[in-house]
Amino acid sequence: EKKVLASSAKELSPSYDWFQTDSLITVVIYTKQKDMNAELVIVDCQDKQLRGEIIMDDHSYLVEVDLEHAVSEDVAVSIAEKVGKVEIILNKKDSIHWKMLGQPREGHNTFIKRTDRGLFYRKCKLVSKTEVTHDTKLFCLMLPKGTHLRVPTGQHVYLKQLIAGTEVVKPYTPVLPFLPLDFQEPPCHDGVHIYLMIKIYSHGLFTHALDHLQIGDYISVSNPEGNFKKSQVQTSEDLLLLAGGTGFTPMVKLLNFALTEVGCLRTVKLIFFNKTEDDILWRNQLERLALKDERFEVQFILSQPSKEWVGKQGKISSSLLSEFVKRGRRDSKVLICICGPAPFTEQGVQYLKDLGYSQEEIHAFTA
Ligand code: FAD
Ligand code: NAD
Repeated sequence: EKKVLASSAKELSPSYDWFQTDSLITVVIYTKQKDMNAELVIVDCQDKQLRGEIIMDDHSYLVEVDLEHAVSEDVAVSIAEKVGKVEIILNKKDSIHWKMLGQPREGHNTFIKRTDRGLFYRKCKLVSKTEVTHDTKLFCLMLPKGTHLRVPTGQHVYLKQLIAGTEVVKPYTPVLPFLPLDFQEPPCHDGVHIYLMIKIYSHGLFTHALDHLQIGDYISVSNPEGNFKKSQVQTSEDLLLLAGGTGFTPMVKLLNFALTEVGCLRTVKLIFFNKTEDDILWRNQLERLALKDERFEVQFILSQPSKEWVGKQGKISSSLLSEFVKRGRRDSKVLICICGPAPFTEQGVQYLKDLGYSQEEIHAFTA
């Protein structure tokens, strides 16, 4: 039985080849997967090191070599989506004939479980830092020239910093630079910048150090991770998003994806829990989006409101949820996504189950 398994894994495994002209090196990966796309291809080429990873469900295929000769910084990636062919095109620094692509590194030409593949980090430059609220900032990081990486909706990356001599790693969920109101606008994901909305905690180990980064400084960013599947949204009619504080971050790309690319969605509702009015992230943008798109509705609920607050107050509870979470029709397809502090998410999931929602109808963003 072992033999059969081994041979079928081999048949499923992508393979690679390489070609050259006077000026170019082309590495071709034949994935044998028909629905390839840019989110499944991660390429890094820096200092004569080439790393090309293909994500195939829970597996990963890797091409990883120390190149024989130097190449220039810019790398092109071309994907034939239907045939599953991925080309990585490098520019030779000198127009000499290469005898080989290079020396294989440890993971070269392996097809293994994603969870067995260590996280790869590349250094990104901090290009801007803008205030979102009194304690939350939008950090814009720039990927290096030789990197091709897109963070899929619902996934997060890890940031790594050296703090007092120790490497510290924390997860963050990329957002968009703003909530697009006009869907004719050019898409904001240019493939070069990664936007992170991060709350700075005064006694927070990682965020305190992050706050001290200067424009032009570098920070390590990992490959994306996460188990959210876009297909969960693509089949829903009603989408409900429950966010607590920075638990709003996965909802940003999700909202944009739902409103621009999911035709069957009839309603999208965000219930946003915060402590005070000053803590609400992108309140203006959310209110403007609600005015612009009649499928979208937003409700703010404060746990520590001032006396002036006339809106809803309280924490996540059965009664609050039963008021806001309703099926459009008795049999309508619903997806509820929830993200926030761990107790918020845990309690929320329990209340939703008590209200009769099934496991398949709930997606909780957790670590
Ligand atoms: P820490 O040093 O861990 O402490 C944070 C604050 O909480 C401090 O004020 C500390 O005093 C207090 N604290 C620590 N432990 C406890 C405790 N047990 N009980 C009570 N208080 C405590 N954050 C974002 O801002 N944006 C994001 O996009 C984002 N995405 C995430 C995605 C995932 C998958 C996960 C799991 C988390 C995400 N986070 C995000 C949270 C982030 O990873 C960090 O946890 C956060 O930035 C705090 O890190 P820190 O080292 O600064 O704080
Ligand atoms: P916060 O302390 O400002 O709280 C925001 C709201 O969450 C509160 O107003 C309250 O309604 C609710 N809440 C807080 N603590 C609660 C509790 N113990 N029980 C019930 N409800 C509670 O939140 P913050 O400082 O912005 O923290 C956001 C949290 O979201 C962080 O813990 C972060 O790790 C998490 N997060 C997770 C992911 C993910 O897993 N993918 C992504 C982003 C953020």
